[in-house]
Amino acid sequence: MYTVDPEVATRIKLLVLDVDGVLTNASLVLGPAGEELKFFSARDGIGIKVAQYAGIEVAFLSARSSKIVSNRAETLGVKEVHQGEQQKLHAVKRMASRLGLGLEEVAYVGDDIVDLAPVAAVGMGVAVADACDDLKEVASHTTTVPGGGGAVRETVESILTARGGWKDAVKGYLASI
Ligand SMILES: [Mg+2]
Repeated sequence: MYTVDPEVATRIKLLVLDVDGVLTNASLVLGPAGEELKFFSARDGIGIKVAQYAGIEVAFLSARSSKIVSNRAETLGVKEVHQGEQQKLHAVKRMASRLGLGLEEVAYVGDDIVDLAPVAAVGMGVAVADACDDLKEVASHTTTVPGGGGAVRETVESILTARGGWKDAVKGYLASI
């Protein structure tokens, strides 16, 4: 877990997650016919469910496009899925304004230079532990574990713990399933 200012944590209403290198490790697994495999963390998945239970909207945002990502989102009940978005800050701004949120109410987790603009612009800009140095320089927070290795789960725990609500959210989520 990492430390988040309780005031910052309390403001967060939308958690935007880059896909490759955040929800997965940075490997793109491609077969000879161009078919793709992605490895997701089951614990990130549960973290996403707990975040949603606690009232945080979760979004997937990718510059690439894959049916795997749509499937994973559907499994987790993630409704905000935006793929093929090269200009990630524009996508975040569009999402926030559609949801009636300011950028200070958004947390964004990224790993590479395409995430620089949104990470710098939002209320809580997070770089995963194995993110590129440029991103870590502008991020307000850095996870202790790498992308695909629980960085999303750690971010949810860190936000909800700073609010004093992680244990209650876990209890409530478990009672709801
Ligand atoms: Mg990435």
